[in-house]
Amino acid sequence: MRPDAGNGPLPARTSIKVQTVRYVEVAVGLPVQTTFHYSVPKQLQEQAAVGKRVRIPFRNRQLIGYIVGVVGRPEGFSVKPILEVLDQDPILGPDLVELTRWIGKKYLAGWGETIEAALPGPIRKGRLMMKSRSPEPAVEVSPSSPLPLNAEQKQALDSILAAVNRREHRVFLLHGVTGSGKTEVYLQAIQEILSQGKTSIVLVPEISLTPQTIERFQARFGAKTVAVLHSAMLESQRLQEWHRIRLGEAHVVVGARSAVFAPVQSLGLVVIDEEHEPSYKQEDAPRYHAREVAITRAKAFQAPVILGSATPAIETYYQATQRRIELLPLRSRIEEVPLPQVEIVDMRQEFGRGSRGKIFSRQLEETLAQTLTSRQQAILFLNRRGFSPFIHCRGCGQILRCKSCQVTLTYHMDTRSMVCHTCHSEQPAPEICPKCRSEYIRFQGIGTQRVESELARLFPQASIARMDTDSMKARGSHAKLLSAFRRHEIDVLVGTQMVAKGLDFPRVTLVGVISADTALNLPDFRSAERTFNLLTQVAGRAGRGALPGKVILQTYTPHHYGIVAAGRHDYLAFYQQEIEARRQCGLPPFTHLVQLTVRSLGENKALEYAKKIAQTLRRCLLSEVQILGPSPAPVHRVRRNYLWQLLLKSPEEVHLKEPLAAALREVSASRGCRLAIDVDPL
Ligand code: ADP
Ligand code: ZN
Ligand code: ZN
Repeated sequence: MRPDAGNGPLPARTSIKVQTVRYVEVAVGLPVQTTFHYSVPKQLQEQAAVGKRVRIPFRNRQLIGYIVGVVGRPEGFSVKPILEVLDQDPILGPDLVELTRWIGKKYLAGWGETIEAALPGPIRKGRLMMKSRSPEPAVEVSPSSPLPLNAEQKQALDSILAAVNRREHRVFLLHGVTGSGKTEVYLQAIQEILSQGKTSIVLVPEISLTPQTIERFQARFGAKTVAVLHSAMLESQRLQEWHRIRLGEAHVVVGARSAVFAPVQSLGLVVIDEEHEPSYKQEDAPRYHAREVAITRAKAFQAPVILGSATPAIETYYQATQRRIELLPLRSRIEEVPLPQVEIVDMRQEFGRGSRGKIFSRQLEETLAQTLTSRQQAILFLNRRGFSPFIHCRGCGQILRCKSCQVTLTYHMDTRSMVCHTCHSEQPAPEICPKCRSEYIRFQGIGTQRVESELARLFPQASIARMDTDSMKARGSHAKLLSAFRRHEIDVLVGTQMVAKGLDFPRVTLVGVISADTALNLPDFRSAERTFNLLTQVAGRAGRGALPGKVILQTYTPHHYGIVAAGRHDYLAFYQQEIEARRQCGLPPFTHLVQLTVRSLGENKALEYAKKIAQTLRRCLLSEVQILGPSPAPVHRVRRNYLWQLLLKSPEEVHLKEPLAAALREVSASRGCRLAIDVDPL
């Protein structure tokens, strides 16, 4: 066994045609940047092949590894033999072997770790493959046929199909508001790919993988042709879908982030809907972005990629202005439904009226009353769950915080508990202050539960429901609540960003945003972008039927460009101000970022290690790479661990990654400290 410099030049691999495989390169699912060499005993030489799982001796234990290469006789070191080959056929095709290698290098993650992110759970855990199966999706959907396209849709489809027919890898940005007919364009492009005998992958954010979305694809192509992959499915179902894709039974894959690794043959097209969604970035190692991975995967097949959004990521739109991505605009809504009228309410003025502590402005309260009187529906949005985000003791002035994370505890009224939204720990809400024993405990600030209870007080005759992760814990509760809302058994739906996406209810004529500022105040350079996107999405929930819609945005910063542009439904105005701000501050897309986070139970230990890394980096990296920190992470303590961060910033990607990987190899590990590397952090 010899570690191989994973980021250096890879060892020459002999052709796979070699009859007997004597030595192999194996990746293991550990956070290591290296691969390992093993010998193959004679009786396994016919079975061993790239893309198969093997059982290997590793230090003092046994592990499952993945053959990623066939190598020549190692010189100057001895190798151990593999113990078993687990698969008859490779579980990873050559394209996925190459793709996972690329991800490991791009995101400074382990190759084996990346391979494991690409495989379904049971396969990763070493379960053997079932030989034959006859999976039969049980759904019945009424078929739909292609609609005659409008001029802009047709132009978009023509551009995409031209690339398909030239077998050209191009990236398209289909930019249009919800209801502008993007999905219909995807469907017709996929239709053409199917008729050429090729496969398509459609990525959608987890939250929009609703039965309605899935049904649209099944209705057009038949349930058997469509495979669905998402995390709410049982592992066995997911595995079954994975097999259907592998065996070439399903030619269209619809799924969340990790569906980008679906084991398709001859990929013809990738669609990424709502391409700006942060959920496309994986939070744990390998910290890949599904958009970048999809583009790289499609390139290997010379297949085009369609990115769709009403509010493209700033980076994506910038690429379009640079003509590296082809912009396909859909400027109008199909049914000519006008976008809802937006009213921005300055809450500072509301305070002037002596309504401190009130949740609803006068405008919102009056419009709600009108909506209810005319038997229409409303959605109220607040991106903060719980009853109140601060538990404050007036006796000693303390705000109660989580003992292990130091973040403020949120009071939850339904369970009468205080919850840490970072580590999810929960304890009974105190009646007296744990510090000074005073009885004067106050719950401050607003969460969705408080909005719900205030609504019930103001409008006792209305039927109100709440949709957030607390109220939607049970499987199926989400769908149940939505269908009750559709049947108009609910008048007002209160919720977090769960209500922001994809809901299409014709009787909803009012959308109220309780506080447009919650995301603006986060210490993150993308906070304006997040706010604009979220407000645009929420606003799009109003007036989707024949009745005109109205949106009320309550804010303390009514002149912020993100809020003003959202009020006017003006993406370009927002983009132009935002890209200028990014240029001036030297932020992406004008620079590349890597964030390093050190975590340890000992505060000093974490800081010392972060300092040591910073020193090495300052010595090894070019001076144009800025190294900021170490500084405490925005959430400095998580589950008793202390977190310190370094941020690296470079105008050129090449000066960043490989030199960083090399520099990090020089820093020896520190006991009790863990280092997380996030390339292009969100
Ligand atoms: P988006 O994906 O941009 O939200 P959709 O593709 O879902 O838009 O289209 C919105 C609605 O308009 C859907 O009900 C869809 O069936 C319908 N639609 C789309 N394109 C056409 C068309 N060319 N003619 C008639 N109806 C269309
Ligand atoms: Zn107190
Ligand atoms: Zn906590």
